[in-house]
Parts: sequence; C-alpha cells; structure tokens
Amino acid sequence: MKKLLYELGETPPTGYVPEQMYASLIRPERYGPPAAAFQTEVVDVPRPGRGQVLVYVMAAGVNYNNVWAAMGRPFDVIAARRHAGAVEDYHIGGSEGSGIVWAVGDGVEQVKVGDHIVLSSCQWNESAADIRAGADPMTSATQTVWGYEANFGSFAQFTVVDEYQCHPKPQRLSWAEAAAFMLTGATAYRQLTGWYPNVVRPGEPVLIWGGAGGLGSMATQIVRTFGGRPIAVVSSPDRADYCTKLGAHGVIDRRGYTHWGRIPDISDAEASGAWLSEARRFGAAFWEALGERRAPKIVLEHVGQDSIPTSMYVCDTAGMVVICGGTSGYHGDVDLRYLWMRQKRLQGSHFANFQQCRAIVDLIASGDISPCLSYVGEFDDIGAVHQMMRDNNHHPGNMALLVNAPSSTV
Ligand code: NAP
Repeated sequence: MKKLLYELGETPPTGYVPEQMYASLIRPERYGPPAAAFQTEVVDVPRPGRGQVLVYVMAAGVNYNNVWAAMGRPFDVIAARRHAGAVEDYHIGGSEGSGIVWAVGDGVEQVKVGDHIVLSSCQWNESAADIRAGADPMTSATQTVWGYEANFGSFAQFTVVDEYQCHPKPQRLSWAEAAAFMLTGATAYRQLTGWYPNVVRPGEPVLIWGGAGGLGSMATQIVRTFGGRPIAVVSSPDRADYCTKLGAHGVIDRRGYTHWGRIPDISDAEASGAWLSEARRFGAAFWEALGERRAPKIVLEHVGQDSIPTSMYVCDTAGMVVICGGTSGYHGDVDLRYLWMRQKRLQGSHFANFQQCRAIVDLIASGDISPCLSYVGEFDDIGAVHQMMRDNNHHPGNMALLVNAPSSTV
C-alpha cells in the first residue's frame, strides 16, 4: 500500500512520490553551533519543474558550507531567500550526494527514472543571457550553490536538482563513497586546471593548505595525476601520515610557525621583520619538503586570513595563488609589492562547471583518484559531524551521511 511518509531506508515503489519526507532542517531560531542547529523534521516533498529531476537520496556529503549555514553567518541563507520571495522559513542543506532518479520534469532528456547518479553542487539558468553569450556557467549572474544559497539540498529523503547536476554514479563506488567526492574534488580540479596558463604541469611544485582535508586530499591526488609535486600543510603527525600515503611529495606541519593572520603594519619595522623571518622560515620548510630550492608554481588556498600573506610571499614568480574559501576569516592582507614585482596571480575560484564535474567523475570512476571517504555517519549525525568540522577535529578526507542507503552498503 502506498504511504504518505516512508521511514528512512524504507523504499517506496520506484517512481511513486510520497507527500512527505524526513529532512534535516536548520531554522533561524536554532542558528549557532552546528550540533544543535540541525534537527530532523517532516516536510513536504518538493516537486520537479521543467528541466528538473526528483532524486531519492541514498547518501549525502558533508561540507563546510553548511557549517556556515548552521551558524547563520557570514551569510543568513534563509533571510536571503525570504527576501527574494521564498516561502520556506527553513533550510535543507547538503550540496552533494548520490541517489536514484525518482521523477523527471518536462524537457528532461539525459536521465530517466531508476538511473543511479551523483549530484553536483551548483545551479544556473541555462537560458541566461551571459551563458548564451558564452560565459562559463560558474561565472553567470544566475549561479547559486544548491543546498546552501538554494534550498532543498541532499540532507533529506528527496531532493530536486537541475538535470545538468546529474552525473553517472561510478559503479565501483558504494552510495556513501559516491556521495562525498564531488564538491571538494571538482572544486580542486577547477583550481588546479581551470586557470590557464597557471595549470598543474609535470614536475612543478604545488603548495596545498589543509592537505588532509576534503579539498586537500583531492588536490594532492589531482596534482599527482597531472605529474606535479604536491607539498601538503597539516597540523598533526597523523594528518602528515595521511597525506604522505595519499601521494604528497612532502609535508609541512604548520604548528611550528607563529606568523599567522593579518600582517603587521608596515610602519612597525620590528614586527614586520619578525613576520618576514617566519615567512622565510616557512619558505625554507617548503624547499626542504620538496628537496630543492624551488617555490610553488601554484598555491591552493582556502584558509584565507591566516595563510594568505604567506601564500602570496612563497608563491613563485608568475605563479598563482588560487583561493576558494576563507575558513579562518576574510580579511586577507596582501603585500602588493610581491604581487606586482613578481607578477603573481591571485585568482578566485568557485566550485566547477559541468565539464570539470564530469572530469572528476571520470578520474574517480577510472580508479586514478580515491574518493578519500574516511567517515560514514547516520542521518541523525548531521549536526554532530558538522560540529566536528567546525572544531577541526573531524576525520581526514571526505565524510558522508547515509540517508536512505542502509548501513550494510557501506
Ligand atoms: P576541511 O575538510 O575542514 O579541510 C580544511 C583544512 O584546513 C583542515 O583540515 C585544516 O587542516 C586546515 N585549516 C583549518 N583552519 C586552518 C588555519 N587557521 N590555518 C591553516 N590551516 C587550517 O574543509 P574543506 O572541505 O577542505 O573546505 C575548506 C574550505 O574551503 C572551507 O572554508 C570551505 O567552505 C571552502 N570550500 C569552498 C568551495 C567553493 O566552491 N568555493 C568548495 C569546497 C570548499 P590542518 O589543521 O591539518 O592544517
């Protein structure tokens, strides 16, 4: 008999869409530490519109963006959507996942009910004037992050996505493995290959902050795959071991340095001198880890305020610091002398376009890159796992949560 609501893992008949579903919700009155911000509630199942796909979610990936969503800062995602006319006073996070196509809207041609898919994280309007004029969709004025800026992410039994967000699930992966590589993997892929001429090249050194994290673990492997030499920065011996096993050419433990954060005022000669000597010491550690006196051609940034002055200092002449986040803060000081005299590039980068998403799916499917899944939690662990991430005591690599997939599939 068809039901209004199914329990997690209790599969409805294929293609039957129930009225309601379980979802992990953030509400404004719970903004704060992620552990308490997420609560499982029952809400209506969203319906797919033209060009959209309803997905029965099997597993979801965990990412830092929903740490920010839970805290309600630096951007209040619910208030922003309400301001734009949305009626929902809650947020369903989750910007990546794996699942089964359950229903399709008019005009959907590339997927069909029953397909096993992996979901990518960004949405845009394919009819937008800038995209029609040839813009990379990630630079379109219409681009948003699904499960963060846009509602109805993967932390629910069902989600609605645009058709181009659906990618074939690599057969060799479990539901959980398939759920957690896309956001970090495709972001790192764009950072390392998307900004010509500053792309990874054989033999060239690359500095990777947070080498054992989600982005870092994917970046280390991508650099290796393209023949570069990844040097990973970490904050513990365990994380150093993890990076070495993953293929890092060398590792630097950042706990041995003290110059993090904003740079001293240039008029304070003593403090500026102390900063410079620490930055030089860090540069020397990079040479030592590499085994020769060469500076990184690319620095993969996402830490922001704490590390960007060092990144800009150690980056090679005509090299690139490519940044996609600011975990430690957004006021990144740049000493412009190093930027122009050495003709360096400071490049912003944000997730990935369709081609870059497919590239990372192919690399994962072929086995060249591991999804680096290190932790699989249950649906009710969503708050606790985001709290671990916030506290930086989470597991290395990527983390996933089971939604409808049973534990036996892990
Ligand atoms: P993650 O798994 O938590 O890894 C981040 C790593 O950064 C940590 O493992 C930590 O490694 C390091 N770290 C944390 N605080 C630091 C500090 N103050 N100084 C130096 N290193 C520090 O997170 P992730 O998934 O890789 O994401 C990292 C950031 O990128 C987040 O802010 C996220 O929002 C952003 N991001 C943006 C995009 C995009 O499309 N724009 C996509 C993915 C991620 P150690 O402690 O071992 O050094």
